[in-house]
Parts: sequence; structure tokens; C-alpha cells
Amino acid sequence: MKYYIIFGPPGAGKGTQSSLLVEKYKLKHISTGHLLREEIEKMSEVGIIAKGLIEKGSFVDDSIVLEMIRKVICEADPSVMGFIFDGFPRTISQAKAFDQLLQFHKKRSVNAVLSLEVDDSLIVERINKRAEIEGRRDDSSIETILCRIQTYHKKTEPLIVYYKERGKYFPIKGDLPVEDIFKNICQIMESIKNE
Ligand code: ADP
Repeated sequence: MKYYIIFGPPGAGKGTQSSLLVEKYKLKHISTGHLLREEIEKMSEVGIIAKGLIEKGSFVDDSIVLEMIRKVICEADPSVMGFIFDGFPRTISQAKAFDQLLQFHKKRSVNAVLSLEVDDSLIVERINKRAEIEGRRDDSSIETILCRIQTYHKKTEPLIVYYKERGKYFPIKGDLPVEDIFKNICQIMESIKNE
């Protein structure tokens, strides 16, 4: 079982590239943002807590997110070749907890962090476009978008050093056409497939 992370700021194209990866490499895509939006739709206890936080651009508590991830890992269908985590881990504390979880339950570790590098100006443009298509509430105001970008720089970007130090970090230019980005990701996937 392989454990990949697709990494990058909000609106970097993680979801788009994940869909392509799922098809080509028979992976299961786990987007914590998507799982949380499902909980909101169901109006579950978790969804009610998450709604307010997501709509103002804050992170949901680690305990909630980690429980969702623990379930995914422990209940994995053995026919799945691996996972692509999208939107997780988002903080150093989540990354450390993730390492422990993989080690404890599966005697494994993260295989690679595929990082889409995109400038802030392009992120805003892309999220505005996504807002028109998907109608997500957290994409609808510029204040919320800017808050998420700021939070990304402050809390999520430190993960770059964390994974670089562990030799797991693979940067990819994110401002190219979708197919070109995917081609570059596939090259990386081929180069690390036996690790
Ligand atoms: P984006 O494209 O902005 O990265 P996501 O769908 O990944 O969107 O996440 C949407 C929101 O869900 C985040 O802004 C955050 O509030 C919440 N969220 C998603 N993943 C996590 C996580 N790992 N930890 C905390 N909050 C999360």
C-alpha cells in the first residue's frame, strides 16, 4: 500500500491532478475538505462544528480530521493500491500524527509529497473561477480566500521543510496546462515506484 500526498496552496489544482492520478495508478483519493463538506451536508455533529470554521476560512480541529484519516487507513480495502491524500496533512502537528498513525497501524510511512507550486496571484484567479463552477461557500468572498492563503503560508508551508528533511518532497511547477503538470507528476511517480 502506497501513501502519497498531493500538496499545495488552496486552488493549486490538487483535486484535478488527484482525479488523473486515481485513474492511472488505481489510487483512492482522500480529500479532507470533501469529507468535511459531506459531513456538513448530512448535518452530522462533525458537520455542524466544521461548517462555521470552514466558512470563515479557519482550519477544523486536528482531532476531527485525524479521526477521519484513522478510519480511512484502518478500513482500507486491500484491493486498493494506495492513497492520495489531498488537503491533509495541513499542519506540522497533523504530519507528525500521520507518521505515527502509519507507523503504528501499517508499519509504513509517507511515500512521497507531490507539491504543486503556484503564486498567490494565480491562486486567487483560480479560486474565483472555481467559485463560479462549484459554488463553494468558502470560495465566495475575497476575505475568506485571502485568509486561507495567509493560513496556508503560516501553518501549512512549514510542511515543505518537514518533508524535505525526510527526503519525501517533490516540487512540481503548478502554473502549466493540466496535461503538462500531470506528465511531470507521472515522471516522478515512475522514478519512485519501487520505493
Ligand atoms: P482548498 O482547495 O481551499 O485547499 P479543501 O477542500 O482542501 O480546499 O478544504 C476546505 C476547508 O476544509 C479548509 O479551508 C479547512 O477549513 C477545512 N479542512 C480541510 N482539510 C483540513 C485539515 N487537514 N485540517 C483542518 N481543516 C481542514
